[in-house]
Amino acid sequence: MNVPLLDLKAQYETIRNEIDAAVKEVFESQYFILGPKVKEFEEQVAEYVGAGYAIGCASGTDALLLALMAIDIQPGDEVITSPYTFFATGGSIARLGAKIVFCDIKPDTYNMNPSLLEHLITDRTKAIIPVHLFGLMAEMDKINAIAAKKNIPVIEDAAQAIGSSSPFGKAGVAGTIGCFSFFPSKNLGAAGDGGMVTTNNENLAEKLRILRVHGSKPKYYHHVVGINSRLDALQAAILQVKLRYLDAWSEERRENALTYNRLFSDLTDADMVTTPVIPEGYGHIFNQYVIRVKNRDDLKDYLKDKGIGSEIYYPVPLHLQDCFKELGCKKGDMPESEKAADTTLALPVYPELTDEMQKYVVETIRTFYRET
Ligand SMILES: *Cc1c(COP(=O)(O)O)cnc(C)c1O
Repeated sequence: MNVPLLDLKAQYETIRNEIDAAVKEVFESQYFILGPKVKEFEEQVAEYVGAGYAIGCASGTDALLLALMAIDIQPGDEVITSPYTFFATGGSIARLGAKIVFCDIKPDTYNMNPSLLEHLITDRTKAIIPVHLFGLMAEMDKINAIAAKKNIPVIEDAAQAIGSSSPFGKAGVAGTIGCFSFFPSKNLGAAGDGGMVTTNNENLAEKLRILRVHGSKPKYYHHVVGINSRLDALQAAILQVKLRYLDAWSEERRENALTYNRLFSDLTDADMVTTPVIPEGYGHIFNQYVIRVKNRDDLKDYLKDKGIGSEIYYPVPLHLQDCFKELGCKKGDMPESEKAADTTLALPVYPELTDEMQKYVVETIRTFYRET
């Protein structure tokens, strides 16, 4: 049996007619950058997330960059984030010349540990970026409370978390600005790159809209230097179709995750596998189903031999990346992130995954531990 990590062809099969019609409509209009389709999609995302404003842009990375630009992050400013995340979270901070300050994660949720946050705040802290990793929201109540004492804006890296919820609100409206990615492997994936910024603050929304078009308003008049980062109409048309299925897809991912958790119970009892947790009141959207395992690298190779796709998110935490070495971090500084980087493995959890496939994945892992 072959079980890929993700099967976008299987997804396309289920919505081919609608996607093809949406693409054709954009081609008939020959209106490609921003325009009515993008505006319509922005309104739909704003409503879906529960935000006052949604501003489309070219990627999740740009969403983070635009958010930091909108709150006027300058060289020398400090921005606190998690070291256990995709590179873009830290990259966007560094691109503006700001200093990344790392806050280690909690071992059970892989999200920023709020109890380590307060003592990292200095007079130069100008933003905090919690990441809702793998589709589970960070503890925004605690993070917001600490940020509010010093009036520090909180930018959610919700790239993996569209539709994710918590007792303290939905991803994208639980902080000052929310950043989403429509990279094809996210729960809501485009046919290319795409991103979105959400906020309830009208001033910030206006700034974001100006910053994404080179800082111009009106056209050809520039009071600030922005960037070129627009969502295009083809992506918006495709994403509009997919948004209608998003909740059903995320529900299927959640069911698959719970099935895995059940199937793994003997291995978790034997301490070979640690399955992901869903804290009380949180709605996890399982962009990734990530387990912690013994002999991770050997297991990954073994699964590959048996036709099963898996991935390491992420093998090198940001504080140990070469390009950030001037920050002076060393191994041991962020112990939980380093442990996660060494022991975690993402398994296939996409909505079209069948029961037989899941049983095969778990049985193969069971055999691996029996043989080793
Ligand atoms: C995907 C992702 C991004 C970047 O999104 P792109 O659309 O690929 O630029 C940022 N942060 C996290 C946590 C991500 O998973």
